[in-house]
Amino acid sequence: MRLPRSLVRAAAWIRPQVPQQLLRLLLSTESFLSKDAPLVVLPAFERALAIAPHPDDETIGAGGTIARLARAGAEVWIVVVTDGEATIGSPHDAPETARRRRAEVATACRRLGAQPPRFLSIPDGQVSDHLDQLATHLQHEVSAHAPQVVFTPWPLERHPDHRACTTALAQLPPRDTELWGYEAHTPIPLPDRVIDIGADVAAKQAALAAHVTAARAFNLDACLGLARWRALSTDAGYGAAEAFLTLPWEELPRLTAAAARAWQLNSPVTWLSLGASRSARAGTIPEQIQEPAARESRDLLLFRRWADLRNLRAMQR
Ligand SMILES: [Zn+2]
Repeated sequence: MRLPRSLVRAAAWIRPQVPQQLLRLLLSTESFLSKDAPLVVLPAFERALAIAPHPDDETIGAGGTIARLARAGAEVWIVVVTDGEATIGSPHDAPETARRRRAEVATACRRLGAQPPRFLSIPDGQVSDHLDQLATHLQHEVSAHAPQVVFTPWPLERHPDHRACTTALAQLPPRDTELWGYEAHTPIPLPDRVIDIGADVAAKQAALAAHVTAARAFNLDACLGLARWRALSTDAGYGAAEAFLTLPWEELPRLTAAAARAWQLNSPVTWLSLGASRSARAGTIPEQIQEPAARESRDLLLFRRWADLRNLRAMQR
């Protein structure tokens, strides 16, 4: 989206006079105020950190946004939690699979314009058994780089390693840092940040192509279809976009606990999606999400954000 020159000049004048937090909020809500620009303006983050449970998640979930930030001059660090040695479809043994996937994610980071990845080498498939170790590493990374935004899998991702990353983050003391949940295997029913990656979709595609080993198990290009649909769903026509759910850091322990309880109730994503869309339309709560734990996660993860979104939209009237 191209902003009028007068608006750019006004923004340059306003920038030093507005506290950083408020400025970021204003920038991220700007698109809701404009009728023909439903995509959220990406705040001018200068330092970002992305947490990838496996090599490939950084690209699938946030690759376009990472590339866009890097292109604008931001430093982006990637923490790769496992080496992805347990991936299905690899013809190699676990150490060789790990070696290859580490090299592949390093190539992907280069193609996205990010810094070389940092590897934690926690066993693939067992991240939830190493939460304390992961939290210590993440604390170190966050302190070392002081990122303004952290990208992490959103709390209702299907893969337990993905959910464990956000659970580990909840152990850290709350920070004045934005936390954006991305969608890798599980689409977010009601995202509150949708970022235009139209100009960076080629970088995302090139980074995806680096993940040769992962591509034996999954059609990684499927996420490009989701990106195109995200653009369609926000009236951005033939573009591409990535969607996120912002997570208030101080509420992370409650959010991740609610997500864990939701997972005990079988397939929460399905009923959360159904429940959210039906309730939003009909103003009723379907029976299957009446159960107290389900209601709690619905409130925490969806409707509160939905209400935020509606408030923002109401401002334009
Ligand atoms: Zn993964």
